[in-house]
Amino acid sequence: MARAITPRSRKVRVLATLGPASNAPEMIARLFEAGADAFRINMSHGDQASKVAVIQAIRALEKSHGRPTTILADLQGPKLRVGQFAAGRVELARGSRFVLDRDPAPGDETRVELPHREIFQAIEPGARLLLDDGKLVLRVTEHDADRIETLVEVGGPLSNNKGLNVPDVVLPMAALTNKDRSDLAFAIDAGVDWIALSFVQRPEDLAEARKLIGGKAALLAKIEKPAAIDRLEEIVEMCDAVMVARGDLGVELPPETVPPLQKRIVETSRRLGRPVVVATQMLESMISSPSPTRAEVSDVATAIYDGADAIMLSAESAAGSWPVESVAMMNAIGESVERDPAYAERIRFTVTRPDPTTADALAEAAKNIANTVSAKAIICFTTSGSTARRIARERPSVPVLVLTPKLETARRLGLLWGTHAVRTRDVDSFEEMVAKAKRIALRQGMVKAGDRVIITAGIPFRTPGATNVLHVVGILGDELKGFG
Ligand code: PGA
Ligand code: MN
Repeated sequence: MARAITPRSRKVRVLATLGPASNAPEMIARLFEAGADAFRINMSHGDQASKVAVIQAIRALEKSHGRPTTILADLQGPKLRVGQFAAGRVELARGSRFVLDRDPAPGDETRVELPHREIFQAIEPGARLLLDDGKLVLRVTEHDADRIETLVEVGGPLSNNKGLNVPDVVLPMAALTNKDRSDLAFAIDAGVDWIALSFVQRPEDLAEARKLIGGKAALLAKIEKPAAIDRLEEIVEMCDAVMVARGDLGVELPPETVPPLQKRIVETSRRLGRPVVVATQMLESMISSPSPTRAEVSDVATAIYDGADAIMLSAESAAGSWPVESVAMMNAIGESVERDPAYAERIRFTVTRPDPTTADALAEAAKNIANTVSAKAIICFTTSGSTARRIARERPSVPVLVLTPKLETARRLGLLWGTHAVRTRDVDSFEEMVAKAKRIALRQGMVKAGDRVIITAGIPFRTPGATNVLHVVGILGDELKGFG
């Protein structure tokens, strides 16, 4: 059922979560062929050993398709859970009292263990405790170091180890649990490109992860806590990419507040030049149905019109019955929106004025010149990828071909809007730079004879962080001659 696509004229990136429905190498290949640009490995499920083969399968695609592949390892973070019940499950009645305490003895209708010491200190009377994705609501009446007494405001069934959200207070918890530390070390060792941090509350949460990663991967902050919204700009500045994690965000905050927040997070990320992923329930009904609802299609399209860098599939591709169809649907929506002549206008509703740097001046100029002379591509030589990020931030109307000597840079760019990265050796002269840019653009099928392209680079060559040249050049008919 996967539709054949030309990888990838589409500018928005598709990030597909892998899981039991898609961990097999042949499924990963089918998702890639259907349009997945990057893969998310969810460390909340399954053990580390089971991820090794998945990572190897993704890297094998890189060889067979000659295109860098992007792997994001998503750490579970301090996901809170209640303890266990003697009967496995109880029914909490509205208006009744319920106690959370530190006693590991199995619970009943009156109490259960809450195995997170930090909450007992930080909680306040009047704060809400949300259970099972917000289905049950408890209101705190009293608390001490060992007990939280609550009134059940919204009742219902509660079973073992159900999740707990505490939206009303900033919890004095580290963003990395012991499990996260172990998963992070594993993921770095396995060579993933991105680490995603869950339940980020403060900018400092990112600093600790950054230290542990030690430059070996890029860092994505999942925005899913009200506390993170309060310090959004600082958090976005501290990370390399952002996720609008609508699942937990819509539990911690009323669901109707999520669309305006989505717009704000996308806008802030774009303004600060960080790639932004819109995630969760995008094609939810495709978990069990081969076609989505019209509302879901519209939701995906809206994220693309807002100028998000990437759209994400969660259970649709990880655990659903139609993973390939879900990816193909996202690909089709992306292509459809990007064919709309109004798309280019709409993504510029977000104003991304250049910072007063040479890199930004050249990025803006490259976009403008591409329009003026109808160039077919912007070709960008970069070591760290930072120039590519500033060019993508301008949302140019033409594809951006990124040439980099570093494989890890090429891989990390898989979340970035409108860029196609190719790893290639450094150049040593202006002539070599021009020849190489033209040759690779031709080979990638991005240009043909008679087209014009824009090249950006830093001179002297082999000096990272110094983009200072913009060159406009035509492709001649005999460009490939002499290059075998
Ligand atoms: P999760 O994060 O799927 O890891 O919970 C995304 C979200 O909360 O939306
Ligand atoms: Mn989440």
